Amino acid sequence: MSIFDAPELRAFRAEVRGFLDEHLTPDLVEETRAGLHLKRGRMARWQAMLNQRGWGAPHWPAAAGGPGWNELQRYIFEEECAFADSPPGDVLGLFLAGPMIIAEGSAEQKERYLPRILSGEEFWCQGFSEPNAGSDLASLKTTAVLDGDEWVINGQKTWLSSGHYADLMFCLARTRTDGKPQEGLSQFVVDMCTPGITLQPIYTMDEGHSVNAVFFDDVRVPRENLIGKLNHGWSYAKDLLARERVNNAQAPRTKRDILELERLADTLRNSYGPAFDDVWARRRLASITMDFVGLESAVLKVLARQMSGGEPGPVASTLKIRGSELQQRVTETALGMLGNAGIVLTPNYGEGFLAPEAKGWAQRHFFRRVVTIYAGSNEIQKTIIAKSILRM
Ligand SMILES: Cc1cc2nc3c(=O)[nH]c(=O)nc-3n(C[C@H](O)[C@H](O)[C@H](O)COP(=O)(O)OP(=O)(O)OC[C@H]3O[C@@H](n4cnc5c(N)ncnc54)[C@H](O)[C@@H]3O)c2cc1C
Repeated sequence: MSIFDAPELRAFRAEVRGFLDEHLTPDLVEETRAGLHLKRGRMARWQAMLNQRGWGAPHWPAAAGGPGWNELQRYIFEEECAFADSPPGDVLGLFLAGPMIIAEGSAEQKERYLPRILSGEEFWCQGFSEPNAGSDLASLKTTAVLDGDEWVINGQKTWLSSGHYADLMFCLARTRTDGKPQEGLSQFVVDMCTPGITLQPIYTMDEGHSVNAVFFDDVRVPRENLIGKLNHGWSYAKDLLARERVNNAQAPRTKRDILELERLADTLRNSYGPAFDDVWARRRLASITMDFVGLESAVLKVLARQMSGGEPGPVASTLKIRGSELQQRVTETALGMLGNAGIVLTPNYGEGFLAPEAKGWAQRHFFRRVVTIYAGSNEIQKTIIAKSILRM
């Protein structure tokens, strides 16, 4: 018997499923299923519907507008959303900016920003990485200098997910140049419409546009936009990145993808008969499924720790590595099963496949190169494990 079989959790699952059946529209499902980068308008519409039900931010404390669920309920919610192909929420606002403001923001900042994340009225982006400061984030060079009642920001950020439609950025900038590099960083809220901000699109290998470079040229930000304490930005960033890593394990969405992979194998078996390399497909599926069971139990263990007030800690790095590798193995296997049928005929991967069952796999496969890079590359996670868990 699984922990999810408890009667109250079964009832909760049924309630979530009922809501999704009633509210999720075909256009949202179709776009999510096709692996496309979702449009802001669609994400906002879905976020508003969730918020009306009181489910806008499942992992926020009730006092900040969360539904007051425990970790198992949240996991069930995410699982049902994944199975129903509902759009993933605005990760940057809901999972990163929101929790940081809840933990470190002033009362005014909480009142100003949190309700609009919940309602889907405002979207966020994360301004951490720079051209020469990705893995080595503490070496970042963008500066914020106080001038009267304003911070003046200069520099360049890169790889800004959602930057082209975000309203606000949480930005890590250097506020002190002496001492250890980590001790001179602070976090700011930056309105993306502020004069002096220039955005350039970056196109990724799935031919989509979800990331951007951004340039700051004397960007003036009100003094009160500093989040938390001056020069404490690094420790807030570390907490934020640990949360991002647990989220990046993406266990519920991977579970859904494995089920889709099984369905793909059935379809191909029926269509191609002995021409389909069933033994190879079965072996890959078995190995992926076993590794997923391991990942899911590790994720549940971390959730149990969080339920009793603990933080994910460095084990989040192991989840990030395993989860991201699995996400890539799933799409690799799908393309391996499809063979020539997976070949894409149009530049935007949205349509024109040789076989209808191939739709979405190539796009997801190409974009998923990123999952072992962002939220701290997997090599960096291995260093964290070596130092913090293995004490090497
Ligand atoms: C699609 C996409 C979206 C992103 N979204 C955002 C975003 O919204 N906001 C944001 O701030 N950033 C974002 N990033 C940036 C991401 O966090 C960085 O790309 C990542 O941290 C790696 O940094 P880098 O690209 O500078 O590579 P580098 O740090 O130059 O690393 C290059 C390679 O060297 C390896 N390496 C580097 N240092 C070490 C080391 N010490 N030991 C072993 N190996 C090492 C890395 O693992 C990697 O394989 C995004 C990136 C991508 C690709």
